[in-house]
Amino acid sequence: MKSNHSDILVLGSGMGGMSVAALLARQGLNVRVLEGDHLPGGSSSTYYRKGYWFETGATTLIGFDEGQPLHRLEQMLETRLPRQEISPSMQIILDGKPLIRYKDRTKWVNEASRFFGNPEGQRKFWETAFEVSELVWKSSAKNTYFPPRSLWEWSQLALNNNPLDVPMLRYGLMSVTDVMEKFGVNTPSFKKFADEQLMITAQAPSDHTPFLFGAAGLTYPNYSNFYVPGGLLQMVRSIQHKLEGDGGELLCKKKVTSIEKEPTDYVVRTKDGEVYTAPTLISNIPVWNMADLVDDSMQAWFQSYARRYKHAWGAFTMGVAVEDTFPDDFILHHQLHADQIIPNTVSESLFVSLSARGDTKRAPEGQRVLNISTHVDPEWWFSLGDEYDERKKQTEIFILDFLNDKLTGFDREKVIVAFSGTPVTWQNWIFRKNGRVGGIPQSMKRSLLDWTPAQTPFQNMYLVGDTVFPGQGIPGVTLSGINAYFRVMKYSFSKQVQAEPA
Ligand SMILES: Cc1cc2nc3c(=O)[nH]c(=O)nc-3n(C[C@H](O)[C@H](O)[C@H](O)COP(=O)(O)OP(=O)(O)OC[C@H]3O[C@@H](n4cnc5c(N)ncnc54)[C@H](O)[C@@H]3O)c2cc1C
Repeated sequence: MKSNHSDILVLGSGMGGMSVAALLARQGLNVRVLEGDHLPGGSSSTYYRKGYWFETGATTLIGFDEGQPLHRLEQMLETRLPRQEISPSMQIILDGKPLIRYKDRTKWVNEASRFFGNPEGQRKFWETAFEVSELVWKSSAKNTYFPPRSLWEWSQLALNNNPLDVPMLRYGLMSVTDVMEKFGVNTPSFKKFADEQLMITAQAPSDHTPFLFGAAGLTYPNYSNFYVPGGLLQMVRSIQHKLEGDGGELLCKKKVTSIEKEPTDYVVRTKDGEVYTAPTLISNIPVWNMADLVDDSMQAWFQSYARRYKHAWGAFTMGVAVEDTFPDDFILHHQLHADQIIPNTVSESLFVSLSARGDTKRAPEGQRVLNISTHVDPEWWFSLGDEYDERKKQTEIFILDFLNDKLTGFDREKVIVAFSGTPVTWQNWIFRKNGRVGGIPQSMKRSLLDWTPAQTPFQNMYLVGDTVFPGQGIPGVTLSGINAYFRVMKYSFSKQVQAEPA
């Protein structure tokens, strides 16, 4: 692809951008992806530092079960993305004791009953959560045109959904806490558990999260969970290969600095002075950033969405390489509760993920890589001035001491490399404005119809990613890419592609 003109420009190569780009290239369209960083994948990628490969952000991976977004993507691209199933999905250390998140639902309900008591309440709570979450996955696959933008899209909504499922919509008006109360499981210990599990999925605690979404977040470990050997970048690379095999192109180190709308084309300028044009544009750049990139004709619309999501979280992340002193068959993901707020964060827990033993693409034999993350107030980190380095060090030291104390097998003395990143790092690195990551926190106040739609009011301009419906986490942004693909085909290329049966 030599000319700077293509049929479609995709801005950003997160999983949202890569999914839509590869699907469109498969239709024979001329697709070019512009990525600002030197590697693709954004928040779900892997980077090299001091001899090791660390994950950028995401570490847990679901979405490959029947009808879920990554399963659909694989079917539509006729490929298999690299991955290995892991089990159990996760371990939680709460009040100093282990709680294992088994995939098997009966085993998990027994484990939750053992830990929290009230077996009858636990059973009812989880049975409802499984039922609601199944429905959410099923209907998210069926409702490509959501939020609906036209009469026709409303009619699709009516046609695609079973009226018998309508009563389930009441769970959109009940918070997770409401449902916990209904089944008598709202104890301080269970609330702590639910809040921290929801923070890593719904980005909001139980009283802010509608059960309709929270059910899917809480049951995340009860679906098939995967590890990608070599890191998540390998999954992104295999989508890139599909894209390139179908004639598409991914260009890295192409930071977009402006987007203008001309009568027939979008004109995109990059930091290295290049100009790219295409009649159809898909942005994987968060809406907060878009408001600063687009020309005057589009600014008000993006500003209104940027203002709508005033609040989002940042992350304090650490990469640590250690001698492998962990037990055999050690679970790869751990949520460790602290009995205090972790210094300079807003969180009482840490999420720790290990590279698989023997994954020598990420660490030499006998060593492991750890990714650690926790939620922070991003704007606070930007306000620090001279105190910034000292605060960062303070949090790093706390985390290493905490791991030494709480993570089985972790030995502070066996740390080979350790470094950290704050929202300031995230903004410099993959340009996320104010270092806001992880998507839009769930809220009882926001209707599902209020989410940023995949289609903008600007002709042939679409959006994907974790600030667009239903984008949260890798499955969410992949689904946003799949949904955008159907819209682009229908509205920009007048071809209604048949959705795969979910
Ligand atoms: C610490 C952390 C842990 C997480 N853990 C999990 C997890 O375990 N499981 C899970 O499923 N999800 C997790 N998430 C969430 C998940 O990673 C993200 O929601 C998802 O990957 C976002 O994908 P995206 O396509 O929206 O955007 P991104 O991945 O943010 O990609 C956007 C891309 O656009 C590029 N870009 C931005 N601006 C420009 C520009 N001006 N010009 C060119 N390119 C630009 C960026 O460089 C980036 O590559 C985590 C997130 C974080 C931060």
